[in-house]
Amino acid sequence: MLKLEGIGVSSGIAMGKIFLLKDLISSIPSYSIKKSQIPGEIKRLKKALAKTEKEIKKIQGKVRGEFKKEARIFDVHLLIVKDKRMFEKVVQRLKKKRVNVESAFAFVAQEFISGFAQINVDYLRERRIDIEDVAKRILHNLLGLQRKSLSRLQEKRVIIAHNLSPSETASMSKDKVIAFATDMGGKTSHTAIMARALEIPAVVGLKEITSKVQNEDFIIIDGNRGLVIINPDQETLESYKEKEEHLFVVKKDLSILKDLPCQTKDGRRIKLRTNIELPQEIDHLSSYGAEGIGLYRTEFFYLNRKDLPSEEEQYHFYRKAAEKVNPYPVIIRTLDIGGDKFASSLQISSELNPFLGWRAIRFCLARPDIFKAQLRAILRASPFGNLKIMYPMISGIEELRKANNLLREAKTELKSEGKEFNDNLDIGMMIETPSAAMTADILAKEANFFSIGTNDLIQYSIAVDRVNEKTAYLYEPAHPAILRLIRNTIKASHQEKIWVEMCGEMASEPSFALLLLGLEIDALSMTPFAIPRIKKLIRQVNFQEAKEFAKTVLSLETGKEVMDYSNAFYQKKELFDEKNG
Ligand code: PEP
Ligand code: MG
Repeated sequence: MLKLEGIGVSSGIAMGKIFLLKDLISSIPSYSIKKSQIPGEIKRLKKALAKTEKEIKKIQGKVRGEFKKEARIFDVHLLIVKDKRMFEKVVQRLKKKRVNVESAFAFVAQEFISGFAQINVDYLRERRIDIEDVAKRILHNLLGLQRKSLSRLQEKRVIIAHNLSPSETASMSKDKVIAFATDMGGKTSHTAIMARALEIPAVVGLKEITSKVQNEDFIIIDGNRGLVIINPDQETLESYKEKEEHLFVVKKDLSILKDLPCQTKDGRRIKLRTNIELPQEIDHLSSYGAEGIGLYRTEFFYLNRKDLPSEEEQYHFYRKAAEKVNPYPVIIRTLDIGGDKFASSLQISSELNPFLGWRAIRFCLARPDIFKAQLRAILRASPFGNLKIMYPMISGIEELRKANNLLREAKTELKSEGKEFNDNLDIGMMIETPSAAMTADILAKEANFFSIGTNDLIQYSIAVDRVNEKTAYLYEPAHPAILRLIRNTIKASHQEKIWVEMCGEMASEPSFALLLLGLEIDALSMTPFAIPRIKKLIRQVNFQEAKEFAKTVLSLETGKEVMDYSNAFYQKKELFDEKNG
């Protein structure tokens, strides 16, 4: 039995056999060959190259119809496949070292990739990603396998990986993937957010779990405590089975709250909404008693595909959401790509600081073609329910104005085409950069609402990467700087008579609910299954006592003091028992 401690990012307990997802490059077989096998190996290489060329042309053909410019990137990919120098280097190596062709190819590809990484010209350095992409394709074809798709697992498994991208997590089949654990990652990475959306327990930041387990090992994932237990002894296994049953009962009890209003004992109402990442989640919202969608992350339309979603396709999804959730609001956040979410169709090159780089509204303002297609789709869907638009990552009033100019253009276009839309739909923005929080009074004059995105606000204010397990200890929602930024944002918005919600992960933590209530937040938006717990808590307290509590908390000097004071207060009031919380 081996216990490892990481960061619990999605609650719940799961146990089962492991499926170890290895990186393709690190799992390339390497073996010696005889001289007589060399021609056969070269033939295999030629076959794999021809197959790769065919695949690339097929994708290019598909993309070309709609996105001429984007399709050009595949010309570069074709040049790489046909590159004589690369081919000859592989042949030379397999002759000289007498190794199998996959191993020779992986070595040469790595040399090319490293060479490009060192070049100081942006354009050429970016080509490294193309080489990597094509090299992976060629290796797949040489090995005659696909990267084992998580959507095609045959039986229920716990996924163990060095890292999982948000798109890999999004493609997981919920029936087969019962939990996951990774070496890397932090609490608010989008992979973690996806795990919560899928309601599967997950622990990340385990540093070296991939080297400690083998396929078929048995494992317990405790998402509540951030623990994994590999090959547990009988006693541990029994105690976890009991815990699993207990959690099941707690969940059932909480579901009784579904139809009760979210209000304090003295009558203060606060709206609880949900964050959704995948369109199919909409079908289950009513079972949690959510009053609408407070954050519809639209990036996931762009992941796991080689082309871009069309205006028509988006319109269809937004309309469905509007109709289904009506009369409650659906707050659609415009594309927030970049950071830790990358779409293969968008060709965003790798950057040294992706979270500070070309992401979200910055990308959208530079690509009005993509941005306007989304805005038009939302506008066209707006007559079918209560839709609202929200911009991500706004850092100052000029960006908000630029985005609104493009929105005006989209409206003018639709008018001239005779297409209907709601001209008065609310336009809001995320407060997730310190600069936005500090200028909330200015921004509030030109926005209809705010949504506080603490996942990014914390990373940018404390200068701590939200996905880095090594600095996760610094990632503190209770840091006085964060609490002050939140307080200022709420005050500024109420002064301008606009409402403000919080949609960052902080909103789903019971330990902050009392504080946020006391700071007079109007709505909280969170992963659906967190709603009953937060509602239960709010229904147990008075607004007046929450205000006093918030006042004291805001006077404390460290995050630890905040948490200690808060825990003691919760315990005294018996606001949640440890087992359930
Ligand atoms: C946030 O930053 O808090 C947020 C809700 O946005 P995302 O997690 O998608 O970056
Ligand atoms: Mg964000």
